[in-house]
Amino acid sequence: MSSDRDIKTTPRGFHCTLCNANMPNMPSLDQHLKGRKHQTLSTVRSTRKTQEEHSVFVSGIRPDISQTDIAEYFQKFGTVSDVIMDKDKGVFAIVQFSETESIEAVLSCVEHKMKDLKLRVKPREKKEFKLNPKKNDPQNLQQVLDRLKPGLCQLASVDAQMRYIVERFQLGENEKKARSLFIQLLQEVFVEFFPDSQILPFGSSVNTFGIHSCDLDLFLDLENTKVFQARAKTTGDQASEGMSDDGHSEDSILSDIDLSTASPTEVLDLVATILKRCVPSVHKVHVVGTARLPVVKFHHKELNLHGDITINNRLAVKNTHFLQLCSGMEDRLRPLVYTIRYWAKQKQLAGNPSGAGPLLNNYALTLLILFFLQNCEPPVLLTVDQLKDMACEEEECVIEGWNCTFPSQPIALPPSKNTQDLCSLLAGFFSFYAKFDFASSVISPREGRSLPVINFLSQKKEDEAVKEEQAIKTPHSHPKLGPLNLLDPFELTHNVAGNLNERCQRSFQRECQEAEKYCRSLQYQRKSTKGKSWGLMRLFTPHGEVSHSKPEQLTISIPFKSASLPEALRNELHMAGDGFRLLWFQRVCSAVEGVLKAVLKCELLATTDTILGEHSSDAAEEMEASSASFNSSINDDLDSCKSQNQTSPLGPVVGAKRPLSSGSDTSVSPQSKKPRVAKRGKPEFPPWICVQKHMVWAGRRKVRRELIKDTDSRPEGSCMELESRVTAYIIEKEPELKEPLKFKVQPQMVGETESTKTVLTLEPSNVEPGTFHDYFHFLEGFLPKMVETMLEKEVCST
Ligand code: ATP
Ligand code: MG
Repeated sequence: MSSDRDIKTTPRGFHCTLCNANMPNMPSLDQHLKGRKHQTLSTVRSTRKTQEEHSVFVSGIRPDISQTDIAEYFQKFGTVSDVIMDKDKGVFAIVQFSETESIEAVLSCVEHKMKDLKLRVKPREKKEFKLNPKKNDPQNLQQVLDRLKPGLCQLASVDAQMRYIVERFQLGENEKKARSLFIQLLQEVFVEFFPDSQILPFGSSVNTFGIHSCDLDLFLDLENTKVFQARAKTTGDQASEGMSDDGHSEDSILSDIDLSTASPTEVLDLVATILKRCVPSVHKVHVVGTARLPVVKFHHKELNLHGDITINNRLAVKNTHFLQLCSGMEDRLRPLVYTIRYWAKQKQLAGNPSGAGPLLNNYALTLLILFFLQNCEPPVLLTVDQLKDMACEEEECVIEGWNCTFPSQPIALPPSKNTQDLCSLLAGFFSFYAKFDFASSVISPREGRSLPVINFLSQKKEDEAVKEEQAIKTPHSHPKLGPLNLLDPFELTHNVAGNLNERCQRSFQRECQEAEKYCRSLQYQRKSTKGKSWGLMRLFTPHGEVSHSKPEQLTISIPFKSASLPEALRNELHMAGDGFRLLWFQRVCSAVEGVLKAVLKCELLATTDTILGEHSSDAAEEMEASSASFNSSINDDLDSCKSQNQTSPLGPVVGAKRPLSSGSDTSVSPQSKKPRVAKRGKPEFPPWICVQKHMVWAGRRKVRRELIKDTDSRPEGSCMELESRVTAYIIEKEPELKEPLKFKVQPQMVGETESTKTVLTLEPSNVEPGTFHDYFHFLEGFLPKMVETMLEKEVCST
């Protein structure tokens, strides 16, 4: 049912154009092709195709003409299997026949007269079957961005572009009015059921950062209703007027719930029922009881508005006021927030549509912007603590034990001494987080500084000890630490980015690094005179769009993990002082070479031209040469080395203490060479040119299990000798690949301001991408583990 034309190979594996899905390797591609989505879409596509081939398009009819009239008329050309009419106006129809021959007969008839009508009959248009792109699909994001281009690129400066983004996206006056009328309606409805209750908007609808179609966050404040209910109970006990026997107000339908004891979900079930039954145009109402704060979700048809109602969210109303205050204090904040929110959306870093998932939400992203502005030199914004000290007595506020005091009006506050324009503040944001040490910091907008993560770990221990001693339960525990720790400005034990996973944190930092780089270019700051994209336009290129950039590279990272290094090496690195990174890099490269050569029995060939020369800049030029020239050079290298094949695939395992490259072979030992500094400013060794003749990655686990006969439970990559035996076994049993994998591995060291790591960039030459990707995915997992083993244990005995 599916056809090969749906599958395209990409630098990262395969792409199914029918389902718009990416698969990293052959097994996942197979699985995808057998999966429900692909099968269903294939069936739908072929059904549509059949329909197209069996039907004609008929126009010139009137609304009073029925399907039966049409079927009766066309019956004379062949059996009519279906007639589809346009529902609204009845001006056209699609007539489907059982046989394709009938189509020819219909089309060859010069004139079609039915009743008093002259019908026009045409063949069906052949439309390419396409899945509607998802909202966050890069293609869709690019289309939205393309519509922005004319307006954005004709402006004179990045500052003007940032203000334009606000204009284009902000909630319009009419939208605000419609929202506020809807809130008014809800207020009227809810007060009927929950006397004295109040419905309060919070979040982007009111924090000054809202965009068209942003959700409507609402807080149903039932505090006064509780008081009402308690009073009604006591007066009811005294059989006061207007109360029923069970103590509830007769005016209220609150009678079947006791707010003082009901669970949030029970209350929200009632809220959901009220919404469904009493609020016009509201549908898709459902309770999400599993969220951190249980919520009722709904959709308003006419306003096309998604909304959430919570009942325990007083802090959110307060932090919304706080964001409003910041926005009023500093008029550069809105353009920055709108621009960064849009950038993050394009890069798929923020904006989980349902509020769940591992991405940053917009609230967290806004706090990151505030924190950056608090840390500018001089600061653009005051810290939350400083603002607290500027508030007057009437503004003092404590919610759930948290101090939420700040001035209610921006007027009372002094303007910032920082005069940077928006363009440089935006670049500053990227540069700030590009270098930020997330692993060891906890970001505190309250104090306007980052706190060492270690404080939170030790504090936790101390507190636990105190708790145990005093056997008390404190309501405020500790933030859930994660890859990005960002404290709420008021609820100081809440990490608002606690949902983020490591991958998303890394993506955020990587995208900041990319953006920082771009902001240093002329294209960012200077308007193109040739009408090309410039300024924000290029910054907003969606994540996953490859058209403008170099093909995606296959890279494997080996991070510097001081804790897992053997003591002797740690001491050596210590002795190396500032040069410790290079020394470590050199050792890692040796280990990589060892894994490729001794463990995976790869042939390593030297590139004759790129073995380190003195003229590092020339060599660096060559390194940047196109992959086409690489592909031909790799084949030449292979030929020139064939006659002196140095490494026996079944040769003895190389002891770690022994140099990994003997003098007789042509492979490059980083130990004997000095790294050079490539054009990009990062140290690198010359590449290895590798030839892998066997499928050493396939079935490894099974072979390993057989070799150790279940007597040992060593995980993959933990023993060099064992892994070498596994490879040797596979090589012995399995035939050689028809076409050996030839590829280049370029090691490079990244470090200084970022976390230190060795990055290996792999470039296949001749091979079928699918096969190479399977190998690459194996290496991605295997190589770092094996390198760690080699650095850690050096010699392993089985
Ligand atoms: P948008 O709805 O446009 O994505 P938003 O500013 O409304 O942006 P939401 O994620 O809807 O952001 O959050 C709405 C409000 O809920 C925030 O203003 C904040 O008060 C509160 N909130 C959201 N996420 C958190 C969180 N992780 N911790 C604490 N409060 C939060
Ligand atoms: Mg919201």
